[in-house]
Amino acid sequence: MSGRAICLPLQRMSSLMSLEHPVIAIDGYSSCGKSTVAKSLAKVLGIRYIDSGAMYRAVTWYFLENKIYFPLAGEHSDLDYRPTLDQIHIHFEVNAATGESEMFLNGHNLKKEIRSMEVSDNVSHVSAIKEVRKRMVSLQQQMNTGAGLVMDGRDIGTTVFPNADLKIFMTADPEIRAMRRYREMLSAGVEVSLDDVRNNINSRDYEDTHREESPLRMAPDAVVLDNSHLNFDEQVEFVLERIRNLRPA
Ligand code: C5P
Repeated sequence: MSGRAICLPLQRMSSLMSLEHPVIAIDGYSSCGKSTVAKSLAKVLGIRYIDSGAMYRAVTWYFLENKIYFPLAGEHSDLDYRPTLDQIHIHFEVNAATGESEMFLNGHNLKKEIRSMEVSDNVSHVSAIKEVRKRMVSLQQQMNTGAGLVMDGRDIGTTVFPNADLKIFMTADPEIRAMRRYREMLSAGVEVSLDDVRNNINSRDYEDTHREESPLRMAPDAVVLDNSHLNFDEQVEFVLERIRNLRPA
C-alpha cells in the first residue's frame, strides 16, 4: 500500500468525498497512535482535530496540582465535583506557526505537563468520575459546529458522537504499543523504563474498559484498524479509503 493519497491536494481529496464535513470518531486502546493518524486525517481533509484524551489529562493535572481528592480503582467517592469542574475552562486553538491544534486550561498551554508519567498514572482514575465525563462529553459535543471534525478518544463513537459518519476502532499488539510509546518518550527526553510504560498501558486499558461510565468499547458500526504491522502511511490510507466511500445518510 502506498501513502500517495495522503499527499492529494485538499480540493482533489474533497472532490473524492461524498460528505463535505464528516464527523470522524477514532477510538481505541492506549498508545495505538490514534492521535497521530487523527491529526494527519484532519489536515488532509481540512477539518478540525480534537484530542479528547488531552482534556481528561488536563483535568487530571488540575486535580493533582490543586490536591483534589479522587477515588482510585475500586474506591468510591460521594464528593460533589461540580464546583471544582466549574473552575476548569478548556479550549483548543490552532497554533498559527505549526498548524497544530493545542489545548489550553484556564488560558495555559499544558502541552508538556499533561504528558508526565504522574498524569498518565492517574488519568484513568479521574476520567472514571461520572461528573468529569459528563462535563467533557458535553464540551466535546459543543465542538461539533457542523464544519467537520476528527476526534479521538475512548468513547467518541459510542457516547460523544454515536451518529458519527465514520467510526474507527484502533488496536495493536500490547507489546508493540509499549515499545512504540517507550521509544517516543525516550526521544522526547522523558526518563522512563519499558516496564513502567508497559504497566501504565496495561492498567489504563484495564480501567478504561472496566469503568461504569462510558467504558472503552468498540461501537457495533466501527471499522477495526489493527496497526500492529502497518506503517503510518498505510494507516492513514486505510481510513481515507473509507472516507472516500462515505455517502450522505
Ligand atoms: O488518549 P490518551 O491516552 O491521552 O487518554 C488518556 C486517558 O484519558 C485514557 O487512558 C482514558 O482514561 C481517558 N480518556 C477517556 N475518554 C476519552 C479519552 C481519554 O476516558 N474519550
